Amino acid sequence: MPYISLNPATSKTLKTFTSWDSHHLASVLEQAHDAWTLAVHTPFAARAVCMRQAVALLRERVDGYARLMALEMGKPLREGRAEVEKCALACEYYAAHAEDFMQAEPVPTDAGRSYVSYEPIGIVLGVMPWNFPFFQVIRFAAPALMAGNACVLKHASSVPQCALALEQLFLDAGFPPFLFSTLMIESCDVVDVIASHHVCAVTLTGSEAAGREIAAHAGQHLKKCVLELGGSDAFIVLADADLEQAASVAVRSRFQNCGQSCIAAKRIIPVAEIADAFLSLLVEKTRERRVGDPLDESTQMGPMARLDLRETLHEQVADSIAQGARPVLGCAPQAGEGAFYPPSILDGVTSKTRAYHEELFGPVAAVIRAEDEEDAIRIANDTRFGLGSSVWSRDAAHAEAIARRIQAGCTFINGMVRSDPRLPFGGVKASGFGRELSHHGIREFANIKTVWIR
Ligand code: NAP
Repeated sequence: MPYISLNPATSKTLKTFTSWDSHHLASVLEQAHDAWTLAVHTPFAARAVCMRQAVALLRERVDGYARLMALEMGKPLREGRAEVEKCALACEYYAAHAEDFMQAEPVPTDAGRSYVSYEPIGIVLGVMPWNFPFFQVIRFAAPALMAGNACVLKHASSVPQCALALEQLFLDAGFPPFLFSTLMIESCDVVDVIASHHVCAVTLTGSEAAGREIAAHAGQHLKKCVLELGGSDAFIVLADADLEQAASVAVRSRFQNCGQSCIAAKRIIPVAEIADAFLSLLVEKTRERRVGDPLDESTQMGPMARLDLRETLHEQVADSIAQGARPVLGCAPQAGEGAFYPPSILDGVTSKTRAYHEELFGPVAAVIRAEDEEDAIRIANDTRFGLGSSVWSRDAAHAEAIARRIQAGCTFINGMVRSDPRLPFGGVKASGFGRELSHHGIREFANIKTVWIR
């Protein structure tokens, strides 16, 4: 089956690619293994030179990469540029710190000398989604390459041009050929990559369904596995919050990337006392979002990435309305060409509705009114997911106490949930396991080895 690169703003095909057959795949995995056996002995300093060159190239090519994302998945140019800069910062971070993170740690025991060393493990497979087509890849590849591993990428089939651009980036940065390879394969062929004796580990960022499948294959073949899956982040607004600021951030968090972010504020939970006031601010600020052509500099929100994603989202919205939720803004696909869906708000979301239980991966804010603070915490935890969360209150110490009770990979207080290379990123419950970024991320794909010397 061909890979189709399609513009979601116009539904026009941009380019098609033929997917590889099994011989081609086997040959690339072989070459990736050969590249790794040579590169594994490269000193950190030499790897850092290439990684810093990747930083320079990302910045030099920012406009081209942003345009590619706009064309292939509808990301507005300004968001695309910010994504490329985020990639540059992550690469810079690992170029600077990987050696320290992988430094052996002495541990006093009954040995003459004992220590823990962090060693590369081989080829890491990344199965990545289309929503941040550059950053998701960099997030696994920059630490993996700096640790001395090789990477093979199975990118989402809707962003083949981004996938190939990333392969070219690492090549142009000076990494040896095949140390980072884009595999033009389909999701059903991922099992063959996991099964390959050359591949040591797999990291998936994607849906829960894909997570279950990849984890099952990884288990079958006894390969290390990291899963970054979906989320339905709680955004708790307490009575003493700065409502103006909280509403502005809620809008940014919920609607950036057309709502297609794993850590978007998907469940907005105001306490009863301020719920009406907060909702009117939310509506007012949501109305201000400028929707349009992602290639237009003034656009804040483009189309969704694919028509089928819009269909799924709208089914969830329509069912939730039938189940009692109240549409306050938008809540119907935009007529005309492309996969546009307006910034939308559903109020009165309760446990009887799909919007309460499911991840809405598009521009729809689900408002779940809580009776009080205890109820807000209960609702925040009443989900299968556990990725991000945030609490809004003028009393930061009090909000911090609440944060400790929320089951999620992170809680931000009076700030928008976002990833930062210095902090670990990942989830609990159905949001996955393992961590990316920081020293935790680079060590996920290291052999944490004990050395004991009498
Ligand atoms: P998806 O359908 O799971 O796709 C993600 C990747 O997995 C794609 O490369 C896809 O390939 C591949 N894939 C899908 N099913 C597979 C299978 N059965 N076996 C092997 N590979 C498979 O997810 P999506 O809809 O693109 O992305 C949205 C989801 O990702 C949301 O749930 C979102 O929250 C989550 N996400 C999580 C994070 C995080 O950091 N936790 C970040 C971003 C997104 P094809 O494209 O060829 O199907």
